[in-house]
Formats: sequence, structure tokens, C-alpha cells
Amino acid sequence: MHRICKLIALAYLLSCGILCAHSQSLFLSPTDIAARKQLAQKQPWARASLDLLVKEADDFPASYMKRFGTPDAAPPPEGGAWLHWYACPESGKPLQFHPPDQNICPDTGKNFTGYPYDHVVYELRNDALGEAAVASALAYQFTKKLFYAKNAAAILNDYARVYPTYKLHDINNRPGPNGGLAYAQTLDESIWLIKIAWTYDLIRDANVLTAPEKQSIEHNVLRPAAALVLKAHKEPTMNIQSWINAGAAAVGYTLNDQPLITEAIDGPIGFRYQMQHFVHEGFWAEGAWGYQFYAMRALTMTAQMAARKGVNLWKQEPNLLALFHSPLGVLLPDGSLPAFNDSGSPNLYGQSFLYEVAYAATHDPILLNVIEHGARGDREAFLFGAPQLPKTATPLLSSAVFPEAGYATLRSPSSDLTAIMKFGPHGGAHGHYDKLNFVLFSHGITLAADPGTHPYGLPIHKEWDSMTIAHNTISVDGQRQAQATGKLLGWHVGDGWTAVRADAGSAYANASLQRTMLLTPGYVLILDRCESNDGQPHTFDWAYHNVGTETMVGTVNMKPYTFTTSNGYQHLLHVLRGGTATDVKLRFEAERKPSMSSLDSNSPPATYDSAPRHVSMEIAHAQLELQMLGAPETEVFTGDAPSRESQTAIPFVIVRRTGTSITFATLLATSKSRLPTASRPPHLTKAEDDTFQVETTEGVDVFSTRNGFKFQHKGK
Ligand SMILES: [Zn+2]
Repeated sequence: MHRICKLIALAYLLSCGILCAHSQSLFLSPTDIAARKQLAQKQPWARASLDLLVKEADDFPASYMKRFGTPDAAPPPEGGAWLHWYACPESGKPLQFHPPDQNICPDTGKNFTGYPYDHVVYELRNDALGEAAVASALAYQFTKKLFYAKNAAAILNDYARVYPTYKLHDINNRPGPNGGLAYAQTLDESIWLIKIAWTYDLIRDANVLTAPEKQSIEHNVLRPAAALVLKAHKEPTMNIQSWINAGAAAVGYTLNDQPLITEAIDGPIGFRYQMQHFVHEGFWAEGAWGYQFYAMRALTMTAQMAARKGVNLWKQEPNLLALFHSPLGVLLPDGSLPAFNDSGSPNLYGQSFLYEVAYAATHDPILLNVIEHGARGDREAFLFGAPQLPKTATPLLSSAVFPEAGYATLRSPSSDLTAIMKFGPHGGAHGHYDKLNFVLFSHGITLAADPGTHPYGLPIHKEWDSMTIAHNTISVDGQRQAQATGKLLGWHVGDGWTAVRADAGSAYANASLQRTMLLTPGYVLILDRCESNDGQPHTFDWAYHNVGTETMVGTVNMKPYTFTTSNGYQHLLHVLRGGTATDVKLRFEAERKPSMSSLDSNSPPATYDSAPRHVSMEIAHAQLELQMLGAPETEVFTGDAPSRESQTAIPFVIVRRTGTSITFATLLATSKSRLPTASRPPHLTKAEDDTFQVETTEGVDVFSTRNGFKFQHKGK
């Protein structure tokens, strides 16, 4: 039996060696195409997706010429520049392109031309041509109309001509190792390369390319581009390496080049190395959702390509599937994910196209929880998805802690109140200095937000986004935290309540910070303990940022003030300052309007699918009452902090106390809208050391942290 297996395997290898070396097989074989054609005949959603694909191919090249104001669909004359430069240097707003050559600031009306603005448009032209090439090649496969294959071939031939003339350039227009030819980064070059390789794979048997043309495409584009991206194995961020590996794999599998495949999958920083070193409890080590999903796209493509050659990376590297599970652990009730580190707040259900591919490969039922939120119209669902999906019962999201990745998700079992605290590793180049930071969601709105990121080309990105004071945590002596890894100290999920305690690790050399959070259906209690490590008194700034409007409820006499310090404080505007020894009380009122999906500025479109993914949201209102227990010589600052998503600033409050041992005890109580004047919001008092009491309309809660967590509710 064993021998027969070996013989079959040998026969398979031999036949593949001859037949598969140069036949269409990168993502879809001719058999797959036939099956997908049948699917489109049976399923309306698949039919609609195919129609859209053919329409996209039909619209080219007219769509390209109209969008860019060009006389033909030729590639750009020079390589593209970094997308992050496409912002007005004066107002920070993204520029608007007016074809053929104007880049207009929507605020000032000023036109910006020359490098880098025109070259960002060149990058977009490369993107568009890569997309059009794949769409045309796929349209050919599904219709067998040679016209589409010829359009795809023309794009490949054009690049075979111009690609060798592009100059090596990086994001700063220097010939650096992480630069590209068609793009300014190996990242974008790799994404584009996958499309070019796949196009070649789809049409090379269509008799639209001559032998010399094939030779030219392979030797002037595919091989040099693979060599170019692979040589950047220095210190690019991890998600970039995922794309480099995928780009190299695409060329390797297309040309049956084993050394390229080996480098991409088994190389020193290949696919397997990434899976074994950069995934912790399912979380991508960069700690930013934009980048995790970005990496997942590349990793999924690599697994798809390998699977076609009989290597099941889903089975061999289980961390790949774990990456698909982890978002559910910190998912906010509206489907969005916290904007931790350099990320927007992407919607998980907007990633269902990726989950379609993963489900088809693994049949893991957990993935259905994401897919069932999206309509099955994505191109990935049509091309790669399971023909039919079983029905599932949506599981309730539950509280969860991830000690190694450093997230604690506290959820109310009976309301949408959710708090997620972050205390894990820094996250590399895209990390923020924000140990013990948290986001808070209630009544349909992320009230306490993370600043996320502005476009990297803007000064505010460096000056604000990653700073400690920009986060809902504690700054010491006005300084930014150091890169640090915090530690989970306690965790308990009780009946109707959840509590966590963590410390900030070595965020500050001269002080230790510990935060305890208790969540019940109506409020969050935050207890902070700040201790000097060097015997000297230090200044502790407790910061909180909440969207909407801010009103001081207590009677603190506030006067205008200006922060003259750096580390992000310089971006705090309309500041008022006051002193008090009694409780600090503030009210925040927020409204969420329906909008497009959240900005995800660090993830330009990267797949074969160019369709926009919108998330519609309903109007929501929420109110949050903040009450912090008073202490002598407390300073309070209020004002506005920058917002990445709009011109509307985000109100903040900073409570400042100085000493060697400082505590903050804060109650955040949320409600759907303003409480009637007769009913009081929950009220916090200190019963004794380490024991706090919260009086609500339902009774009194007593929370003690002396020996572990103790919680007691006494009804009225
Ligand atoms: Zn952040």
C-alpha cells in the first residue's frame, strides 16, 4: 500500500512537472474556471459578481483614459510616489485629482504639481492598470473572447517595455533598498507584481502573446521585479515582508522557479517564519488592525498559491487561521475594531471577502460569523468561496483576555457596553506609546477613542498619533512613555461584571503605573495607582478623550491656558485650566451619523477586487458621565484634541496630580441619552482602602481589590 502511494505521488509529480510548469494554475486552473462558470449559472450572487467583472473589463481602457485624462492606456512615464504624500501641506486634507494633471487642495483651492504629487497619480495609474489587467484576463477566461486577452496582453507588453526604464526610488525619492521601480516601496511593487503575474498566468495559453513577447515579460518584468522586492530583506515592517513573500511566490509559482518559491515560503523571513514569529495568540505583532488585515491578504494569497501545488499552509501553519479568529476577541459591537497603533478603525465585516477564501480552504465554522454579515457579492466569494454556506447561530461575543498579545476585552452580558484595555508589546515601527490605554463603546458609539493614525506624510502623525497624552492613559512628568510591554496582573469574569488589572511595565523608569478596570452593564470603574520609583515626587497626567461635546458639571473655576510643552501637548487646543480638591465631574454627549466605512488610510486597495466596501450605520446617541473622586491640589484641563477623521476635534480632560504615590478613581457611566433631571447618574464613593461603592438606580455595588477582585450587588 505504502509503495502504491509512493508510485502515485511520483506519477503526480512527473505529470505536474511536465503539465503544470507552464500552464494556467496560479490561483485558478481551467477546471476551477469551469466550476465557477457553473456557479454563476446557479447562484444569482455569483452571476452578479461575474457580470461586474465583465463590465469592468468592458469599460477598459475608456475608464482609465477618463479617470486619468490620458489619450491612451499607457503606463505612467515614471514610477509612482508614496500615497501618503497626497495631502495638502497646509491643511492636511487629502488632495483631489482633477485630470489630467491638477492636484487640488479642497480647503485652499491651491494646485500642487511636480514631485511627489504627480507621481502619486502615477502610482494610482499603475494600480489601475494592474486591476484592469487581471479583470481583462479573467473576463477572457470566463467568456473566451480574445478581445479581453488582447487588452491584458497589451498591458503586459507595455510594462515589458517601460519597466526597465523606471528608476529605483524610495518614498523619499532616493535609490534606497526599500524602494521600487513602478512604485516607491517594495510593498506596492509586490502587490502590483502579483496582479501582473496572475494576468500572465491567465493569458499565456490564449495565443495572444508571441514567444519573444513572453520572454520579454518574464525577463523584463516578472524576474527583475521579484529580485527587486526580495533584496529588500532588511528591516521593512512585517506586513511589507508578507507582501514581498507573496509577490515572490507569485512569480515563483508562475515560472515554476523553485528557489523563488523556497525563499518566499521557507526563507529566513519567509511565510513560515512570519507565522511562527509574528503571531501571538492570533494577533499580528504590529498590533494595528489595518496592518493585520493587510498582512492577512498577502498571507492568504500565498496559501492559495501553495495549495494549488499541493502544500496546505493552512494546516501546516495553524497561526494563519488564528489570525482570522483574533479580531473576534476585540470586536466592538458595531463590527469595528479599535484604532490601536497606526491603524484606522476597520470594520471586520468589511473583511468578509478574506474570510470567504479562508472558509473555502478550512471549513472552520467560526469564520462564518464574519461572512454572514456580508452579502456574498465579493469577487473573492465568486472566484474562491464555498459554493454554499451552512447556516450558523451567531455566538454572543464574550469577555476575553489575551495576556501575551496584551488585550483585555470587558463586555457587559446585557448591554453593548464594551471596554478594551491595551497593555501588550509595543508593536514595532507602527506602535504607539500607550500602555494601559483603552477604548470604550456604548449605545452604538465608540465614545473613548484611540487617535489611530493620520497620513504618514503629515507632521501631526509624528507629533500626535503615537504620543502617550493622545491616549486614554497616564503620562508622567509630561513625558512620552518608553517602548514597553505591560503585564496582566488579574482577570475575573463574574456574574454580570468583569474586572482586569494590568501594569505598564517599564513605560517609565521613574514611576510604576497600575490600572484596574471593572465593567458592569451600566458603568466602568477605573482605579489607577501611580508610584514613584526613585523616591522623588512626579506629576501624573490622567488623560481621557471622548467624542462629541464636553460639559463641566462640577463647579471648578476654569481659565484659559496654553500648554507650552511638547510630546503631543502642543496639539491640545482651546485649553481651560482649573484647580479643585472635590470630585471632578464632566458630561460628554455624542452622536454618530450614518457614514461610509471608517478611514483605513494605511491600507490602500490590495486585492484583485476594486469594488468599494461600504458599511452603513444608523444614527446613534450616547451620553457619558465622568466622575473622578476628589483629592487635594488637583489640576483639571479641558479642551480639544485632534481627530483623524474630521475637522471636528475630540474633547479631552486631563487630571493632574503630583506626588510619590498617587491614585485616580474614576467612574464612567453611560446612557442612551441625557438622563432626566430627576434621576441621578451612578455615583462613586470610596468605602475604605481598596474598596469602592457605586450607587445606581438599581442598588449599590461594592467592589474590592484587596485580595483579588470581590464584587457585591445589593438591590434596592
Ligand atoms: Zn494609538
